[in-house]
Amino acid sequence: MADCIFCKIVQGEIPSAKIYEDDLVMSFLDINPINPGHALVLPKEHYATLFDVPQEVLHACITASQRVAGAVFGAVGASGLNFLQNNFRSAGQLIDHVHFHLIPRHEGDGFLTSWPGRPYPPGELEVVLKKVQARM
Ligand code: AMP
Ligand code: ZN
Repeated sequence: MADCIFCKIVQGEIPSAKIYEDDLVMSFLDINPINPGHALVLPKEHYATLFDVPQEVLHACITASQRVAGAVFGAVGASGLNFLQNNFRSAGQLIDHVHFHLIPRHEGDGFLTSWPGRPYPPGELEVVLKKVQARM
């Protein structure tokens, strides 16, 4: 993709702090980290979102993510780690080349400290469940 910043990083046209690379996957440090060690893992081929990634490539991304997560976790002495992935603007995706965030966490670091979950209104869970199951 001509205008994709992550494709340019994969091609070596833009520098990156590279952690890992194989035939299918690349990983580098996020330039604007939540915490030091925040890393990104992505397929080398351009796919926009999770919905577009072939299974084999996705498998390679997750396997590499597990390995990079271990390295990051140990390197910065983290006590936790978030594995996040944003799809589309409404979910906070800024770069349209699918990528996984590995975010090392420390007690009291202030990021995502609470998850504002809200219970379903009565009967709604069953309605949603049926709709989702119908698409599986
Ligand atoms: P997202 O909101 O999930 O699309 O995340 C995009 C991420 O890419 C952000 O966390 C940015 O800090 C990061 N980012 C943007 N440009 C670069 C770059 N040149 N090198 C490394 N990370 C980058
Ligand atoms: Zn791309």
